[in-house]
Amino acid sequence: SVPLSYFGGIGTASKKGILFKGGNYLEGLTLVKTVVFDKTGTLSEGVFDVVRIDRPTNSPFSEEEILTYSAAAESFSNHPIANSIVKAAEKKGISNQSTVTEHTEYSGLGVKAAIGGNDSSSNNGGKTIAVGNLKLMKQENVAVSETALLSGSDVETHIYVAIDGVFAGRIAISDRVKPDSKEALARLKKSGVDKTIMVTGDSDRVGRAFAADLGLDDVYTEQLPHQKVETFEKIEAETKTVNPKSKVAFVGDGINDAPVLTRADIGIAVGGVGSDAAVEAADIVLMTGDPIQLADAFDVAKKTKAVVY
Ligand code: ADP
Ligand code: MG
Repeated sequence: SVPLSYFGGIGTASKKGILFKGGNYLEGLTLVKTVVFDKTGTLSEGVFDVVRIDRPTNSPFSEEEILTYSAAAESFSNHPIANSIVKAAEKKGISNQSTVTEHTEYSGLGVKAAIGGNDSSSNNGGKTIAVGNLKLMKQENVAVSETALLSGSDVETHIYVAIDGVFAGRIAISDRVKPDSKEALARLKKSGVDKTIMVTGDSDRVGRAFAADLGLDDVYTEQLPHQKVETFEKIEAETKTVNPKSKVAFVGDGINDAPVLTRADIGIAVGGVGSDAAVEAADIVLMTGDPIQLADAFDVAKKTKAVVY
């Protein structure tokens, strides 16, 4: 049975916009020694700005064409990167008249779409568009040469665009750390958390730059959704070797990390830009998406425990 004061703790938390799906998670939080974080939408805003479009010198496509085709291909995805590319095209007043006849999303990689042409000949101008990271380019056998491209800042994410199997250009997009991420991480350490670790599907370059900026203890990069689960299990095993009673929490927004949210002892979903699937998969939901709520959740748990014992 759950001690009565856990209901009090749940009530206190809910007034702060923190939803506990059971009193056992309040108690569980007091045992957490390691917190594993997703990057995009969790520690970072997950709202990207398109900062540049870089083209190889021999690209047959203009910047506008690259953005137009990418936006069409991304129009069926709800990934934050897709949303930002669609928004950038809209902002440029690019009206999208291409008909997407086929589309596939490869989670952790990007999207692929077939876009129909506008005449009825057999080769009617239809095109195949692939938009995503280098893993997607490799999967699609697209040869990418970046030697002629600007290197840009370490925190910008690079999204590669191939049209009919030819590397057309690279979209540089920037994300920002949430304003309260650093403070929240510092407060977690004060609440007795020993280790903060980020697991991201983004590139090594971007993941390490973010982790260094935030002062995280460790970072795993270029992780596909299923690898995020394996990495979490490895971190959990390591934590429990040190202290068998300790728990490991995972904090994510549910986009490409719902499997880890489900798998974790304590899965914590951040609201705001996150998905409904995350809210369902999680044990604790931070309604506003502000990382300070995470530190607050740990504080409520600690105070509730002090009342119970
Ligand atoms: P994170 O772990 O940082 O939250 P994700 O696992 O959601 O990131 O995505 C990992 C990477 O996969 C992105 O950085 C991007 O390169 C690529 N990607 C995923 N979805 C898309 C998409 N719809 N369009 C383009 N790239 C995508
Ligand atoms: Mg994410």
